[in-house]
Amino acid sequence: MNRRNIDIVRRARILSEGQRGKGPVVYWMSRDQRIFDNWALLWAQQEAIIHQKGLLVVFCLIPDYPGATSCHYSFMLKGLEELREKLNQFNIGFRILEQSPEIILPIFLRQIDAHLLVSDFDPLRIKRRWKKQLAANLTIPFHEVDTHNILPAWIISDKKEYGAYTLRPKIKRVLVDYLTDIPNLQHHPVDGDKDSIVVTQSCFTKNRTYQTTAMDNQIQAGESAAMLAATHFLNHKLKNYHDARNNPCIDGQSGLSPYLHFGQLSPQRLAWMVSRSELPADAKEAFLEELIVRRELADNFCYYEPAYDQFEGFPEWARKSLDQHRIDKREYVYSLADLEKGTTHESLWNACQHDLIQRGKLHGFLRMYWAKKILEWTPDPETALDYAITLNDRYSLDGRDPNGYTGIAWSIGGVHDRAWSERPVFGKIRYMNERGCRRKFDVDCYIKSVQCKNAPEPHNQSR
Ligand SMILES: Cc1cc2nc3c(=O)[nH]c(=O)nc-3n(C[C@H](O)[C@H](O)[C@H](O)COP(=O)(O)OP(=O)(O)OC[C@H]3O[C@@H](n4cnc5c(N)ncnc54)[C@H](O)[C@@H]3O)c2cc1C
Repeated sequence: MNRRNIDIVRRARILSEGQRGKGPVVYWMSRDQRIFDNWALLWAQQEAIIHQKGLLVVFCLIPDYPGATSCHYSFMLKGLEELREKLNQFNIGFRILEQSPEIILPIFLRQIDAHLLVSDFDPLRIKRRWKKQLAANLTIPFHEVDTHNILPAWIISDKKEYGAYTLRPKIKRVLVDYLTDIPNLQHHPVDGDKDSIVVTQSCFTKNRTYQTTAMDNQIQAGESAAMLAATHFLNHKLKNYHDARNNPCIDGQSGLSPYLHFGQLSPQRLAWMVSRSELPADAKEAFLEELIVRRELADNFCYYEPAYDQFEGFPEWARKSLDQHRIDKREYVYSLADLEKGTTHESLWNACQHDLIQRGKLHGFLRMYWAKKILEWTPDPETALDYAITLNDRYSLDGRDPNGYTGIAWSIGGVHDRAWSERPVFGKIRYMNERGCRRKFDVDCYIKSVQCKNAPEPHNQSR
């Protein structure tokens, strides 16, 4: 086996065995919506070439993905439209199936007598349920490839990690071996699904109404835009990242999370570009800590903790402490609607909420403060968790991501954190307040910058 094969094979695993059909190899693309730097697509192509088969990429578009709004659909569909054109240039078919994968894929794969099904990895509940159902119903082999983590989630750790301090050494031990360049996709030598171009074009035309939303001016969707944004960050912003990233008044973060969330940008490509740049080690290390350790820790949490979005998923010390403080009087209690509109008594929090609605994003530092205040201003931790997840998933372009569930569980439930000194409502959960923010950055300047933008308009919750 050559180096290219080793790199691909070690990221793949078999979900179910079966009898290979005579038709094409199918890659059911889900989390990693890109053509380049995609190990799952490379694996599917390798299998197709070995067995002299056509190659088809399938995306299952469901109209009511939990938490997703027209902004998310718009961003995703634009990315998929670009992807379809590129796949065509590589002689690879592309189809959008407008039904839930666990229902439509067994029927579709039988119709085309598919050879093999390949998918990408996702630790979230809904994707795992779909895959379990698929694995039980398919007669062909079903493979999974982790192309979102640099170190496949099931390889780097076989358990839920306590925190970055336990995962980091495991990553460091093998990173040089896994953080490599990624092979090129080849022009596919075997013809496949000729109908796919026509079928898929009609789907994009039909769904065109999704494609103009308030967030459209904020960030360009698609793989090419993602690479441009990554290159811009590397050339202009990375050198100051370690100093600037915690100040919401400075545009010091990369802003790449929507691309990473939708898989339009490969985390490995980004980490490879950063690690090979000639910038000072401080800047590179600070960024790679977030991109690799923190991001892969979030996948680890969601993969090994079934209750990643519930109170039961918090560590025992945190549950006990929050339980002891359930009866504490809350000075302010807000409904979901109050929070959503950003009409609390605290102008910094309201600015955060308005910022989130207007831009589809909130600065990483403010995300922590924003979630912690929701714990303080709701009747119990379960309600706080529910409201924080609902708002984050609805308004963040990068929402519905393991990073989001883990970040919220960190803020409200002490996940990956330690116990702090006890105080009302929070118990031993780390506390944050506006005064602390004032010590870190110019809060008034931030509030003013948000007020200068248009008044917030909550998104339509359904498409
Ligand atoms: C309450 C709360 C909610 C959050 N919700 C989300 C969410 O919905 N989606 C999301 O992607 N991230 C979320 N995060 C994590 C983090 O805040 C964002 O990833 C980051 O702010 C995204 O901006 P950026 O791409 O400019 O980050 P940068 O600082 O430029 O970092 C680059 C990349 O590293 C990863 N990263 C950075 N910080 C973290 C972190 N703390 N945990 C895990 N990965 C990280 C992300 O993939 C990010 O895109 C949340 C954090 C908290 C505390």
